[in-house]
Amino acid sequence: MESQYDVSQLIKKKPFRCSCGKIHQAHLKDAVVGAGAVETLSEYVRKYGGTKAFVIADENTFAAGGEKAVRNLERNGIPYTRFTYGKERLEPDEVAIGAPALHFDHACDILVAVGSGVINDITKIFAKLTSLPFIVVATAPSMDGYASSTSSVIREKLKVSVDSACPDVVIGDTDILKEAPMLMIRAGLGDMLAKYTSLCEWRIGRIVTGEYYCEEVAKMVRAALKKCVDNAQGLLSRDPAAVGAVMEGLIISGIAADWAGVSRPVSGTEHYFSHLWDMRALEFSTPWSLHGIQCGIGEMETLKIYEKVKKRTPDRAAALRFFEEFDRQAWFGTVRAYLGRCADAVIKGAEGSQRYDKEAHARRVDNICAHWDEILAVTEQELPSYDEMRRLLTLIGAPQKPSEIGIPDSETSLAFQMTREIRDKYILSSLLWDMGEIGNF
Ligand SMILES: [Zn+2]
Ligand SMILES: [Zn+2]
Repeated sequence: MESQYDVSQLIKKKPFRCSCGKIHQAHLKDAVVGAGAVETLSEYVRKYGGTKAFVIADENTFAAGGEKAVRNLERNGIPYTRFTYGKERLEPDEVAIGAPALHFDHACDILVAVGSGVINDITKIFAKLTSLPFIVVATAPSMDGYASSTSSVIREKLKVSVDSACPDVVIGDTDILKEAPMLMIRAGLGDMLAKYTSLCEWRIGRIVTGEYYCEEVAKMVRAALKKCVDNAQGLLSRDPAAVGAVMEGLIISGIAADWAGVSRPVSGTEHYFSHLWDMRALEFSTPWSLHGIQCGIGEMETLKIYEKVKKRTPDRAAALRFFEEFDRQAWFGTVRAYLGRCADAVIKGAEGSQRYDKEAHARRVDNICAHWDEILAVTEQELPSYDEMRRLLTLIGAPQKPSEIGIPDSETSLAFQMTREIRDKYILSSLLWDMGEIGNF
């Protein structure tokens, strides 16, 4: 535990008032990453007042980490009731999320989730509803939602983010994590590599819109990302140090978003490519892959565009003319065709935002023109080259192009334009739209 950015050190940090003006405090109370970490489970059950555990897993995650977890409980004399979903792919929809409520043993006073994305998302909601303490035994270093207080779920066949409880403890046993399916390990690194553009765009957003930014949070994510990249070589051979670095990075990302109170430090354009592909997969049954795999591909596409942006200079008059001539209704028609039923909420969000406000646009254009050199310097400081990203994804054998997961490469330009609309966050597509250049990429 050599760095101040190690998870266990971060967690011990008391809430503090930062130079950014916020008091930073994480909801996650304990985290342990390392070989044999699952053997601390009973200790944490007791620490959080548990006398009987309700263990939630599916058959795959139970085989991966659940057996070790319950053996630890048994050896320490802690009774438990187990609820296990089947082997088939679990979707976090109304049925799956309702199931633990119907199978709940009311003698249980602590929740233990054994799994990764979906099991964690489901248990976070159940923990919020029951107000019970909650421990996760992670089975794959696949996504950065372990330490967050929102769940990504499917409601009425639409993907939405809902408020839920953050786990009290995350246990990342590298003996378990390193045996995860390789696609999930690759996905975890993909979700970390996304932080290059997230951090870059957070700084650009601050320059253009004057939004909140915290260098302490950014530093923490940068350090975690560097550790993942420095160890990436070992991922394919399931080296515990490499897998552990990714798991730590994913937990730290959750803490960073929690500290900042916004998802800015951990998601940007690359994530929005992934969200769009997920939305279309649900609506039109188009191909999809794991979140982090899609983020890795999105990162490649985003870096490719940044490299072109570096050669541009903003033209104020052209930008203002673009705003005047933009056919918003025609564009919203394109959004409807691309997103189907998800489009209504997206368009409503767009109409209520500053994106289409004439004066706000002019102010942003002024900032872009006045600070263009600074914006380019930020991209130089934060972003690796496209070739470097290709090297990293090649190193771990991860897909690099949408067509490698079944999505036509010819749709990338439209997807990129859509990334501007799905959240109210200033990202690369926002910058290029404001400059009147969005159609050129
Ligand atoms: Zn701060
Ligand atoms: Zn992510």
